Amino acid sequence: MADRRKPMRPVAPLPSADLPVVAIVGRPNVGKSTLFNRLVGRRQALVADTPGVTRDRKEGLALVRGRYVRLIDTAGLEEAAPETLFGRMRASSEGAVADASLVLFCIDARAGITPSDEHFAQWVRRQNRPILLIANKAEGRLGAASALEAYSLGLGEPLAVSAEHGEGLADLMAEIVDHLPPEPEPVDFMADAFGEDMFEGEGEEGEVVLPARPPGPMRIAIVGRPNAGKSTLMNALLGEERMITGPEPGLTRDSIAATLFDDGDQFEIVDTAGLRRKARIDEALEKMSVSASIEALKMAEVAVLVLDATLGVHEQDLQIARLIEREGRACVLALNKWDVVEDRNATRKAILDRLSISLAQMRGVPVVTFSALTGAGVQRLLPAVRDACTVWNARVPTGELNRWFESMLERHAPPLVDGRRLKLRYMTQVKSRPPTFVLFGTRAELLPDDYKRYLVNGMRETFDLPGVPIRLQLRGTK
Ligand code: GDP
Ligand code: GDP
Repeated sequence: MADRRKPMRPVAPLPSADLPVVAIVGRPNVGKSTLFNRLVGRRQALVADTPGVTRDRKEGLALVRGRYVRLIDTAGLEEAAPETLFGRMRASSEGAVADASLVLFCIDARAGITPSDEHFAQWVRRQNRPILLIANKAEGRLGAASALEAYSLGLGEPLAVSAEHGEGLADLMAEIVDHLPPEPEPVDFMADAFGEDMFEGEGEEGEVVLPARPPGPMRIAIVGRPNAGKSTLMNALLGEERMITGPEPGLTRDSIAATLFDDGDQFEIVDTAGLRRKARIDEALEKMSVSASIEALKMAEVAVLVLDATLGVHEQDLQIARLIEREGRACVLALNKWDVVEDRNATRKAILDRLSISLAQMRGVPVVTFSALTGAGVQRLLPAVRDACTVWNARVPTGELNRWFESMLERHAPPLVDGRRLKLRYMTQVKSRPPTFVLFGTRAELLPDDYKRYLVNGMRETFDLPGVPIRLQLRGTK
């Protein structure tokens, strides 16, 4: 087992590993940066310049129709005489184009094709990368004419967009995804791996092969009430002040992501603390923190629910915990401000009691206590997240599950419904993330909730599934 106390190593915020690179190229002023900000915008406001590599290159993570790509903007050039300009355009684009799975070649639809566009297009074509020709600044009906002209570049059909006005971006994103190399495994890990139809031939017993966790960073949402210490925690995790504001006004309102490594594992944190800055009134602030949490949870596998331990459990904490359950995410409970908690045992017990009374699914949730402010104990968080993620992806073999199921039936016979006993036949796990089971039996759909709870709690204990919502679906058979 690895040494869990190894210090965390903050790294450049982009998970460079294995993501397709999309490079935006073109002469100065065609709108490359504007397009970059549009595409990177909402999800991720982090822009890394790779120090020492090149100053002309901005990178961001863009979520394009459910796929993450590394977007590279080769901006940073001034308008100059064509002779000197071409060399500099080429120099600033060379690396990005070499890395790219797809090149977005931008022109200015208002200005039309210039000699530097032509010259540059020739060079880009020779780099043998898939290219999409983007005619930018084509808001309204403008640009249709110069779009025709753009055919002459020999880069295929131009796609008219307006980066500034946000027009044509849906088509652009569809085109981008179409031109990317095929995905090794679906990145949209939230998508149901199994639809209803897999039970068409109902009643057939057999092991379901569940997909393994897709490769890539474990995604964490840090959620909690305002002032619980989420931003402080982010900074403690990243090892430096990194509450980033985006390139556009308004970006602070969105979730922010950052990547870090611990013990060889990669984590991506989706944080919602940026929201605080925009909120003025308390009430708005409370509401916004809930909607921000939902947004972050949808992106995450594991939710870190941060509580201010000095304040105990409040209604809004429960509300966020319920959201975590509703979204089906694994949960790690983070009791923060431990530095100023006086009676630690009593505090911990009071909080856990309150949570497990209000929320059955929180029973046995992994707990980490720390001080985000001093950093004491923070190093325990990511290992707990890793464990929670493992549980979230857990699979229980059908044989084992049914041996347990039979013993549960023996201990407590299923109840009578309308004077007749329900005949429960067998169970199987149909999904992980979170663990989801189907119970088959005659009139199984009539199973009362308390018996369902009995089974779910039993599963949680027997198969060691703490801190994840367990789904149990009932299927009646004839
Ligand atoms: P870059 O040098 O290629 O990165 O270009 P910028 O993104 O800095 O944009 C150059 C100028 O074009 C800026 O003044 C932008 O506001 C403007 N611009 C960008 N996109 C559009 C667009 O879709 N329509 C119009 N009309 N202007 C745009
Ligand atoms: P957020 O709204 O959840 O992002 O909370 P912040 O990170 O902004 O923290 C709210 C306040 O609590 C700030 O004044 C922090 O300095 C303070 N705070 C955060 N973590 C700790 C901690 O571990 N101990 C103490 N004593 N104060 C903390």
